[in-house]
Amino acid sequence: MAFDSLSEKLQNVFKNLRGKGRLSEADVTTALKEVKMALLEADVNFKVVKNFIKTVQERAVGQDVMSSLTPGQMVIKIVNEEMVNLMGSETTEIAFKAGNDITVILMCGLQGAGKTTTTAKLAGKFKSKGKKPLLVACDIYRPAAIEQLKINGDKQGVPVFSMGDKHKPVNIAKAAIEHAVKNNHNVVILDTAGRLHIDEDMMNELIEIKENIEVFQTILVVDAMTGQDAVNVSEMFNNKIGIDGVIITKLDGDTRGGAALSIRAVTGKPILYAGMGEKLTDLEQFYPDRMASRILG
Ligand code: GDP
Repeated sequence: MAFDSLSEKLQNVFKNLRGKGRLSEADVTTALKEVKMALLEADVNFKVVKNFIKTVQERAVGQDVMSSLTPGQMVIKIVNEEMVNLMGSETTEIAFKAGNDITVILMCGLQGAGKTTTTAKLAGKFKSKGKKPLLVACDIYRPAAIEQLKINGDKQGVPVFSMGDKHKPVNIAKAAIEHAVKNNHNVVILDTAGRLHIDEDMMNELIEIKENIEVFQTILVVDAMTGQDAVNVSEMFNNKIGIDGVIITKLDGDTRGGAALSIRAVTGKPILYAGMGEKLTDLEQFYPDRMASRILG
């Protein structure tokens, strides 16, 4: 389960803190050193950990904490609050255009991150909110990806627009929007091609789509299991094409949690949803406070 090992380590630190009646500054420093180690072992970004510990330390050695009746509890509360802040405090919703204007959502990410699956999961969420989504197969390099989108779209009861693999993604996207207008769709989700690694062609293709089509939301899909690679990928995509948010997949299999804890702090962009399994219903809205509770127990 997500965060298991981090959670266990932090709970041990907290048990020691709770056990103490009074706390000296040295007690706090020792406890925060252990928190720091636990976060680094969880593969949280080094700079993020450094800032996090500094903020907690500054707040924790304050007069009101040290002189309180339960200083240990106070320190734990501060760690909790700062962890929520790290992940962006508030839940961020995917934005839609006002009225019945078509919202175009561009899905991007590396191959295998879970983009196609997540695209279908999102379509299901939108449908249950009363939207009329259209899925668009813009991955022309892997015929299997088009087929996979069609199968998943079918399962969700959401139509899939495809033009095979002989057209440029930007032209497929344009045609899809025309189709959406004619058929009263108000959300168009473009499933684009991923590569094994970030390369110029992939980025240029995404840039071309964004230059020619009014994309309202650009959502990056990253795999939690890849840890800091997921964070680096988020940073690169954000710098190259600009993203509005991230969906982090495979959190169900990620016992460390480093990517989930770092992405917001490194990119400034929120995590919108978390993929919690392979089934099309396994997509959860990302709540920073609930995530922190899950980690801290
Ligand atoms: P794409 O290449 O980015 O389009 O990736 P796919 O959507 O084909 O997903 C790659 C694999 O990851 C598939 O086997 C999916 O079932 C699996 N997958 C996607 N999201 C999740 C998730 O949240 N949890 C788990 N356990 N597996 C997932």
